[in-house]
Amino acid sequence: MRIHVLGSAAGGGFPQWNCGCTNCVGLRAGTIAAAARTQASVALSDNEGHWFLIHATPEISAQLASFAPLHPRAIRDSPLAGIILTNADLDQWLGLLSLRESQPLHVYATDSVRHAVTKDNRWYRALHRTPGQVTWHELKLHGSQPLLTADQRSTQLVVTTIPIPGKVPLYLEDDVKPHIEDNVALLVSEMGGGPCLGYAPSVGAPDPEIERIVELADCLFFDGTFWSNDELLALGIGAKTACDMAHWPLGGKNGSLAMLARSSSRRIVIHINNTNPILRDDSPERRQLKQAGVEVAYDGMEIVL
Ligand SMILES: [Zn+2]
Repeated sequence: MRIHVLGSAAGGGFPQWNCGCTNCVGLRAGTIAAAARTQASVALSDNEGHWFLIHATPEISAQLASFAPLHPRAIRDSPLAGIILTNADLDQWLGLLSLRESQPLHVYATDSVRHAVTKDNRWYRALHRTPGQVTWHELKLHGSQPLLTADQRSTQLVVTTIPIPGKVPLYLEDDVKPHIEDNVALLVSEMGGGPCLGYAPSVGAPDPEIERIVELADCLFFDGTFWSNDELLALGIGAKTACDMAHWPLGGKNGSLAMLARSSSRRIVIHINNTNPILRDDSPERRQLKQAGVEVAYDGMEIVL
């Protein structure tokens, strides 16, 4: 399995267009040891070169352009066999609307996430210009299912979908009740066994399922959105804690880093908010990650499992 990180930041990216935090200002000025990041998305393929994206971010055009194996091979073509969504946050799926050039798309999501994207959404009609333009594949909780090639044969990849603590996106909070399918983690492995990739970019709280994912994954991408629970409050941004936003912060006695530190498999944090001090290569918080053996995802990161 080949994994290529197309983007590693949380919604808004790094720097964020309207943000004047120390990180964003320092990155623009070139005065901090940090790299720009687009919004979180990874591409993965089996050994036969069938490619899947996890997330379709608002920056998808630039992200596809940045990686040659995802370029077209014919006059109208995409090597993308499918796109997988783990929740209905806008930074996960808004990029679907940028893929409206009549290319057949296969999207994998839970029913709850499919509803969030398609129901009462006039803009989604842009993806229904031709019959069969978008085919949805239901991710069934706890089920293992093959990911399919563009012509619907099994690839060598099998995905298992695990519900984890999270919440519905902000834009739906007044419209829908919370549902167990709102936020999931993925385990992806090759048919018949072999190393297992874990992907959990939005983790709302500690949970036995999270412990299980950490145990099962040989390589795990994990929620690195915030370092501290009051990270935004301390900067005078809004009134919500990390936990209010369904992101378990990394730092502190009860932070996720303490849990990640106990695992001996490869652990990489992704979906990193621009305010997070771990974005600076020389910060004390980054040093704590390093001491725990936890890596920080960056755009262009390559992994072969
Ligand atoms: Zn910022």
